[in-house]
Amino acid sequence: MEQHEFDVAIIGAGPVGGALACRLAQAGQRVALVDRAALPPMEHPDFDGRAYAIARGSRPLLDQSGVWDALPIAPCPILDIRVTDGKPGRPASPLHLHFDHTEVGGEPFGWIVEARALRMALNEKLNTMPGLSLFAPAAASVTRHAGHADIAIAGGPKLRAKLVVAADGKHSQLRKEAGIATTTLPYRQSAVVCAIAHELPHDGVALEHFLPGGPFALLPMTGNEAHENISAIVFTEKTALAARLMTLDDAAFTAEIARRLGNHLGRIALVGKRWGYPLAAQYAQRYTATRLALVGDSAHVIHPIAGQGLNLGLRDAEALAGLVLGTAGDPGAADLLARYQAARRPANMLMLAATDTLDRLFSNDNPVLRLARDVGIAAVHRMPRTRRFFMRAAMGEG
Ligand SMILES: Cc1cc2nc3c(=O)[nH]c(=O)nc-3n(C[C@H](O)[C@H](O)[C@H](O)COP(=O)(O)OP(=O)(O)OC[C@H]3O[C@@H](n4cnc5c(N)ncnc54)[C@H](O)[C@@H]3O)c2cc1C
Repeated sequence: MEQHEFDVAIIGAGPVGGALACRLAQAGQRVALVDRAALPPMEHPDFDGRAYAIARGSRPLLDQSGVWDALPIAPCPILDIRVTDGKPGRPASPLHLHFDHTEVGGEPFGWIVEARALRMALNEKLNTMPGLSLFAPAAASVTRHAGHADIAIAGGPKLRAKLVVAADGKHSQLRKEAGIATTTLPYRQSAVVCAIAHELPHDGVALEHFLPGGPFALLPMTGNEAHENISAIVFTEKTALAARLMTLDDAAFTAEIARRLGNHLGRIALVGKRWGYPLAAQYAQRYTATRLALVGDSAHVIHPIAGQGLNLGLRDAEALAGLVLGTAGDPGAADLLARYQAARRPANMLMLAATDTLDRLFSNDNPVLRLARDVGIAAVHRMPRTRRFFMRAAMGEG
């Protein structure tokens, strides 16, 4: 059977693998991209309420790969971020943090991008980019050797590449096959994700309301023909309560949202479905093996408290693309892979630790911790330099 030669083979066409494939192919690399699932069809799927917060620092990869310009729904800029501490059913603590984009140059902190819009933009690029061969749905088996890797597509061609990238998500088969161990930190929490339409505009304000069961986030979205004002909701609750929330009828579920949100957006209504995600953090002990690099959730999964999971993956992809495109030599060479791990693992571990600490500090009702964090929030609010530090971190520039 004919063998096809590639510079890089990427396994997993999720947002991280897909964006990396576009970036490398855009720059002239020969790229194979394999996903075991069919990529959703190109026609306009329904609004489903899921969205990503893309920090300003993660945008360059999406720009350079042409994905940003292909987004079919305009991303909604995040202009302000408000952080409060409270209890459901009671007004948010008056001690709050307010981050205003005008204090850090006037550019948005980031954008809320609908998940379906990102998928559609990726699909458009993946299907038309010269130099990129897409195999989906397809099962790949990978054999790595000292000088190259062989990728056999079931019922299809044999591929050979200098570098294989594991972008196959948190249960990464490639990571397991390479014998790379992971550590898991269970949270006993689940995230409930949905979207709401609301009477009053959000004005680009993202809200993070820390509640004893876990953080409740409101992310401003771009309105559509059916609803002028919409926002995504991502909130964390203890697993049993989250399971109950998923079974409530729409009216009762909407009342639960309103109890956590307060009334500053006027009347609210649920739009589309709700989604439940059990939460755990996970990190790989190494990001590389012979001819292999891990990117995105295959390398790290973090608590969604700060909406940074995909952002870290996009920065992995950007770093790896920078190294691959910066060498005239072998993209799978051991020293290049070592530089990739050194560039990304410490930064990702820091974010994992920060989100873990935030969740443990805020997701409880201990009166001492509550006082400490309220005092902390108020103190940070009064310190412009510290506030600017947090703002830069939110933008992915920390
Ligand atoms: C509730 C919640 C809210 C979140 N909100 C945000 C947010 O606001 N901002 C943010 O930055 N991040 C957020 N995240 C994190 C974000 O969703 C993930 O970090 C991101 O989806 C990871 O992308 P990925 O491409 O690495 O992996 P995935 O999206 O998991 O993609 C993996 C791909 O690999 C394919 N695959 C798997 N196994 C194989 C195989 N054996 N062979 C071939 N293909 C395979 C799959 O079909 C899939 O297409 C959130 C997460 C949760 C749970």
